[in-house]
Amino acid sequence: MTPGSPGRASRRRAPHLAGGCRPRTAERVRARPHAAADPARSAAHTRNQWASREPRRSPRGGGGPGSMAASLRLRGAASGLRFWSRRQRPAVASLAVVCSRSMASKTPVGFIGLGNMGNPMAKNLMKHGYPLIIYDVFPDACKEFQDAGEQVVSCPADVAEKADRIITMLPTSINAIEAYSGANGILKKVKKGSLLIDSSTIDPAVSKELAKEVEKMGAVFMDAPVSGGVGAARSRNLTFMVGGVEDEFAAAQELLGCMGSNVVYCGAVGTGQAAKICNNMLLAISMIGTAEAMNLGIRLGLDPKLLAKILNMSSGRCWSSDTYNPVPGVMDGVPSANNYQGGFGATLMAKDLGLAQDSATNTKSPILLGSLAHQIYRMMCAKGYSKKDFSSVFQFLREEETF
Ligand code: NAD
Repeated sequence: MTPGSPGRASRRRAPHLAGGCRPRTAERVRARPHAAADPARSAAHTRNQWASREPRRSPRGGGGPGSMAASLRLRGAASGLRFWSRRQRPAVASLAVVCSRSMASKTPVGFIGLGNMGNPMAKNLMKHGYPLIIYDVFPDACKEFQDAGEQVVSCPADVAEKADRIITMLPTSINAIEAYSGANGILKKVKKGSLLIDSSTIDPAVSKELAKEVEKMGAVFMDAPVSGGVGAARSRNLTFMVGGVEDEFAAAQELLGCMGSNVVYCGAVGTGQAAKICNNMLLAISMIGTAEAMNLGIRLGLDPKLLAKILNMSSGRCWSSDTYNPVPGVMDGVPSANNYQGGFGATLMAKDLGLAQDSATNTKSPILLGSLAHQIYRMMCAKGYSKKDFSSVFQFLREEETF
């Protein structure tokens, strides 16, 4: 959506909590015959019903970020996997009715964290006609949204006051805890019935604790980390891995589908993060393996392009070799072709491998190669690679004479 594009002014006049709120499940709508007959009445009814629902009490009681961190434990694992892509919508008629009603509503959506990923994701929501309520600790990150007519506020609590659907896209668990439970966090002003979706990659145990805190306020939390990187965020090709109450999946999918081509339901809250962490651990291992194989082949006298071609028609082929090759000159349009600028930073990969390590410790799972990959990326960060794309592990291996 560009500044001044048609429809923005009229959307701005709509109250934030207009009747066209987020959709409910097919089951809940079917349970109330009048709801299907009168969509507007149905929306108002479901919101009132949701708002009056008594929040369940957490067995752990209250607690700020400190006590939350102290009580973190990773429990459970991914349950049944449900996969809906843009090409595979569920063929349930009543659910389609619910989704189309909500899509027409376009009430404001809160977005917190407008960095490399959040920026293009928020822009895709704008393109789908959603007015945004924006916040980032770094004010410059909000400027282009303000220029485009979106509303910028001064803290996460103010986002929660103005929007009943909020997406957070933050670097680490600490940042997410601050945005939700901090002095001016979302939880200070969150409205009952709000849907809070965290797309950051964080510790699954933190997601579970945040979900409990959110539930105490009568709202809903879902973890929905992404795979795909900045390019996929721009082209709306992200894959979202969603954890949370299954009844709320359709409501989350309405927004996430505007930013990604695949939205996958993974199970209870935290399982989206679990899937993401496993994927990134495998990605790190395969990237290091590709870099080692390419480096060895080059030192044995092979042309890098030829070696990559052979790998990609052989059993060693993987995403790191055929789509994101780490050797400069082998492929165009990837970070290795641009001095490892842009892409997915080595710091973020080290962070994700740290999450995998913690999760492996909590679940007593052996991750021998994952642990080694963690050490390699930590060493890279300490040696000046922190701002480079994670495929710069190839350059690191070339320069690291002690290996
Ligand atoms: P980023 O550092 O570019 O952006 C994060 C933004 O959050 C920044 O603008 C920062 O100012 C803001 N921020 C930090 N703390 C905040 C707070 N308390 N309140 C409000 N704003 C705050 O990070 P990114 O690359 O956009 O990544 C975001 C998340 O997505 C990370 O968890 C990352 O692991 C994950 N991820 C990134 C990629 C990628 O390719 N970059 C791919 C998949 C997943």
